[in-house]
Amino acid sequence: MFKFFMPTKVIVGKDCVKENANELILGKRAFIVTGKSSGKRSGALDDVINVLENEKIPYHVYDKIENNPEISHMAEGGMACRDFGADFIIAIGGGSPMDASKAISVYAANENMCNSENLYDIFSGKYENAPLPMCAIPTTAGTGSEVTPYSILTLHKEQTKRSFSSPDTFFKVAFIDGKYTVKLPLQVARNTAVDAMCHLIEGYTNKKASPSSDYMAIEGLKILGKWLHVFENGDFNEEICTELLWASTLGGIVISQTGTTIVHSMGYQLTYFKDIPHGMANGYLVYEYLKRVNDVLPEKVDNIISALGLNDLGDFKEKIAKIMVRTIGFTSDELKSYVETSIKAKNVASCPFPVSQELELEIYKSSLL
Ligand code: NAP
Ligand code: FE
Repeated sequence: MFKFFMPTKVIVGKDCVKENANELILGKRAFIVTGKSSGKRSGALDDVINVLENEKIPYHVYDKIENNPEISHMAEGGMACRDFGADFIIAIGGGSPMDASKAISVYAANENMCNSENLYDIFSGKYENAPLPMCAIPTTAGTGSEVTPYSILTLHKEQTKRSFSSPDTFFKVAFIDGKYTVKLPLQVARNTAVDAMCHLIEGYTNKKASPSSDYMAIEGLKILGKWLHVFENGDFNEEICTELLWASTLGGIVISQTGTTIVHSMGYQLTYFKDIPHGMANGYLVYEYLKRVNDVLPEKVDNIISALGLNDLGDFKEKIAKIMVRTIGFTSDELKSYVETSIKAKNVASCPFPVSQELELEIYKSSLL
């Protein structure tokens, strides 16, 4: 038996925001959640503002979202959203603004959760008042957050990142247009594509994989394989970017069904302690993960390699190393301390092989020392 649940309406194609104004407007007052520059640099903020002004919808631009959003800042965003009297949210940006808007939509609807004592209730996934309705415009092609219920927040208290989700934290609508990602700095494009690749791989090799998630995972990997060479020279155009965004959306749909594995939970420590971008952190670890998967699911690993258009695992390792810059060093003691946290993550149980502290340490060491 398997279930498939993905309630987000996905609209793909050139100028999909402009041409679907009625889908973008989910209420009477809009709160736009974005990062410092991504909304403007991608051109998505201008397109959204044009639509809202044409339709005479009052809006507030909240452009305070930092990379790897921190939980208490989300409650501040929720209060700002309440103060403006917004009844819907438009998220513009990469995974950080999209994840942030999910948290802001919960806090805005549940004022009692915004004080420091109740902040962590967000992880229960159960809320007295339904979160505000949201739509999303991704400006990176990586996280697939536009079609997942997950929001991943930084917790200083636990010195890591942790996710929450609820059936009500899916976006109502997602707009997929490569014109918003075509100007991404090359290294951001690489990191985010590797994140999408990891979602597809971790979903496909997951204990919770199903025929529906497998089908989409292989489709997404084939698209990434087709354009893998472009990540070496950065020769993107809008059409290629729309395809890559679609691959990343497929990755999001896949992990909505399966969740991720230890690549993600081990990667969070690298981001928290060394500020390594999310996709890059996953990229450092995924080869050693796949090597272990190969011991238990060799056919699935063959399918991944051939969908990506590669020859073998060695070829995979080489291609990833070419686009993942390595500048930061680690000590054995640091890696040992990361394992103490990463081993507690719930997605450890989703790995297709048994995971122990020793195994995680071995993966960290082989990947990073
Ligand atoms: P990000 O943190 O959203 O953005 C990375 C950088 O790229 C930021 O400096 C951002 O600028 C910039 N940027 C974004 N779009 C741009 C554009 N079109 N042109 C120029 N610069 C642009 O990166 P991300 O990799 O997309 O998201 C990572 C976050 O998503 C992490 O917190 C991760 O844990 C989370 N995540 C969530 C899910 C999920 O299912 N919800 C899955 C995987 C990862 P600004 O600072 O101006 O925004
Ligand atoms: Fe991810």
